[in-house]
Amino acid sequence: MALTDIQERIAVACDEAGRAQDSVTLIAVSKVQPDARVEAVLEQGHRCFGENRVQEAAGKWPGFRERFDGVELHLIGPLQTNKARQAFDLFQAIHSLDRPKLAKTLARLAQEEGHCPDLFIQVNTGEEDQKAGVMPGQTDDFVAECRRLDLPVKGLMCIPPVDEEPSLHFALLGKIAARNGLTGLSMGMSGDFERAIALGATHVRVGSAIFGERDYG
Ligand SMILES: *Cc1c(COP(=O)(O)O)cnc(C)c1O
Repeated sequence: MALTDIQERIAVACDEAGRAQDSVTLIAVSKVQPDARVEAVLEQGHRCFGENRVQEAAGKWPGFRERFDGVELHLIGPLQTNKARQAFDLFQAIHSLDRPKLAKTLARLAQEEGHCPDLFIQVNTGEEDQKAGVMPGQTDDFVAECRRLDLPVKGLMCIPPVDEEPSLHFALLGKIAARNGLTGLSMGMSGDFERAIALGATHVRVGSAIFGERDYG
């Protein structure tokens, strides 16, 4: 079974890193996956899932939530400010806080609604033009700005460049988090979550290794 397989590999990686097994949260990334596959993972008792689009999550999760208690949803993809309110209602965590305008919008919503999802600031560790995220050199300032807005920033998130050794990016993210007093590290996907755990990941985002390849056709 793919889920138990991944849970087992996470446990081994934690042992090897001398870390407690409950120090890593497995986010099962269910984007684009057929409902039957998601349901199978829910049936196995897993409750923590990741989606990268608000619209897609809004379509499929209310139905699952009626049937399965305790679902925890993480938004791992970009968030437009005009979808922020919807994201507030759907997600317990947002991993893609990446700009002042969004921070201000979230702060206003937090005031209005009296709660706020856990937030991770996305850092563009590879400084790639096409990728979202705050530049590494601007992250300290942005963390400070979010704190002034009273936002519940739990940690940092990164998506390393596809053609580079991810460990360098995981190490950089860990360093930036440490100097800002942040303990959450959202890093590691199907191909590299063990390396991320070795470098301190607290949240790994694993999709295809659990559910199988995504079919975008
Ligand atoms: C799709 C996605 C993942 C999961 O990727 P896999 O390689 O299928 O594990 C993780 N993080 C983000 C931000 C994603 O968009």
